[in-house]
Parts: sequence; structure tokens; C-alpha cells
Amino acid sequence: MKLELDAPNLGDLEKQYLNKTVESGFVSTFGPFVTEFEKRFTQYLNVKKAVSTQSGTAALHISLHDLGVGYNDEVIVPALTFIATINPIMYVGAKPVFVEKAITEKTKAIMPVHLYGNPCNMEKIMDIAKKHNLYVIEDATESLGIRYKDRFTGTFGNLGCFSFNGNKTITTGGGGMVAGNDVKRLEHIKFLVNQSRDESKGYYHPEIGFNYRMTNIESALGLAQMKRLDEFLKRKKRHRKIYIETLRDVTCIHFQESYEGAEDSRWLTCITIDETKNIAELQERLKKEGIPTRRVFMPITEFPPYKAYKESDYDNAYAIYEKGLCLPSSTLNADDGIYYICDKIKEILL
Ligand SMILES: *Cc1c(COP(=O)(O)O)cnc(C)c1O
Repeated sequence: MKLELDAPNLGDLEKQYLNKTVESGFVSTFGPFVTEFEKRFTQYLNVKKAVSTQSGTAALHISLHDLGVGYNDEVIVPALTFIATINPIMYVGAKPVFVEKAITEKTKAIMPVHLYGNPCNMEKIMDIAKKHNLYVIEDATESLGIRYKDRFTGTFGNLGCFSFNGNKTITTGGGGMVAGNDVKRLEHIKFLVNQSRDESKGYYHPEIGFNYRMTNIESALGLAQMKRLDEFLKRKKRHRKIYIETLRDVTCIHFQESYEGAEDSRWLTCITIDETKNIAELQERLKKEGIPTRRVFMPITEFPPYKAYKESDYDNAYAIYEKGLCLPSSTLNADDGIYYICDKIKEILL
């Protein structure tokens, strides 16, 4: 039995669409799949518009740029996230602020991250943003298709950013999307990612632009994967439930909890274990049983470019990093595989 941590699930539909791009010759940044993928994504999220990009990182960068976040501005972010949430803040010359309750007169935006697919408390965050007149850019790169209350994550803020990297819930090989309801802003983002080209005047570029377009090949994969998204989400949710129920008796294990009103679903199911147990040893022993896992992200303030931005101890971020492990969550895994993993974890920890 081969177990996968986060490997993509690709099948006949993906092959069929990819063949179409090769047969038609439309392999680059123009072609019908780009439009169709964006349209399907827009309809799925129930937003007004979505713009495809080269990556989730590009989606976050172009969002900050378009909202005018730049030099001397501060952006509030969590210390516990993937590095790609934070680097785009530096690209626009702004300052990441790794703390809560950190609003100053320079604060311009909040970037909540739905980490591992766990929806943030968007009601609270939107209230704070409204009160202080701040932009909200949601990093929904790990939470496609997961709801907070009755809406999808990524649809609450001014802009929501998504990723289709190879390990995410759906993949285009590499790619991203910016979505939202501010049609004018999103039309401008569509223009920016296409080298700010004013096509009515040929090769005329009235603004500094970016080459952040998704290709037709990538979009073909994306459209096929969108058609299978609900199947993937169902499987991830079921596997999470198996983990929680089967490991209920293992009292030294704790699952990432959900906020009230948040859907109990994840991109990756993660646990923390009590300090009495050794996380590195657990990981090593699982590996020997053919079970791939991955440590929870290292807090951003551990990395050389960001050490100077450390303003407190971030006890929670560090504690979760030191005790946290992501369990196999690929939709390629069968239910039997998840039960097998639970048995092995019990053997090691009980
Ligand atoms: C994957 C990811 C990104 C960036 O997406 P890419 O498509 O890899 O550029 C950003 N933030 C988080 C939290 C992610 O997991």
C-alpha cells in the first residue's frame, strides 16, 4: 500500500484536456481553457470575478500591489504560515507585522491565512478591518472549497488568493487565482498580470505590468480538477473524520480545532502531541512504516530575512511548530490506508 502525504490526483479527464491543448496548438497564455477555468472558479466560489495567475505567490503579490500597499505600510500577518504569505509583502516594500493587536496608524492591510485549510474567524477579522479601515487579503491558498459560516473562505476580504501548486487540493502544476466581488479592481488585476497591455492600442503599456499569466495548459488541468473538486473535498473530510474518531483514545494527540461556524475540513490534517512524546521520533518511526508526514511550518521569524521583525515570543506559533505534524492527506489514499496509519500511530504512542 503506497501512502501519499499530499500528492496530486490526476486521471483521464486531465489527460483528455491536456491533449486538447496540444492538438489545438494553444499551449501558452491565450486559449479557451484560461477563460473557462476562470469562469468555473468564479461560479464555484459565487463571486463576481476571478483572475488566474502563475502562482499563489503571484496572486498575493499582485493583490498587495493593486491595493496600493507599499513603502511605509504595515501588514498584519501570522508568524505561523508558509513563507509565500510573507515574501510578497517585502516585494512591495511594506513591513510584515507578526502580531495580533498590532494596528498602528501605518497599518494598511490584514492578511489572514486559513492555515492547512482551517477557516479563520472571518466575522471577527472583517469587523476589525471595518473599524480601522483596513484592506483584507485572504491567503486562501490552502482552503479552497472550505466554508466559514455559509460562504467559502477567500470570499470575505477585498481579495482572496488561491494556489494550484502540485500539493494543493487541486493543481495546475503551478498556478494561482485572485478572486472577489470588486469587478473593477479585478479587471485591473487582469490587465496588470498581462504586462499592463492596452490591447486596443496594440503593444501599448500605460502602467508597469507583470507577466503573471496562467497558460492554457495549466488552465486545462485546472478545469479538469475543478470538475473533481467536490469529490476531493469529500474524501479529505472523510479521512479527517477517520483520523479523529480512530485516534480518539490516544489522549496525547490533539487535532487542529475549528472556530465556531467554520467547516471542519482541511487541506492537510494536522496533529500536535503532548510534550511527553517526541515528535521527531514519531515522524521517523512512521517513515519506517512507509507513512510520509511533514512537520508544521517553522515560524517565519526563524528565517534570516525576518528575524529583525520578531516583536514577541510567539508562544503559540513556536509551541505548534515544536509539537505539530501533518498526516497523509492526499486524495489518492484509500480509507484502508488511513486506518493503517491510525493503527501505527497507536502502536507508537500508546
Ligand atoms: C502554497 C501557499 C502559498 C503560495 O502558493 P504558490 O502557488 O506555491 O506560490 C501561499 N501561502 C500559503 C499558506 C501556501 O500554503
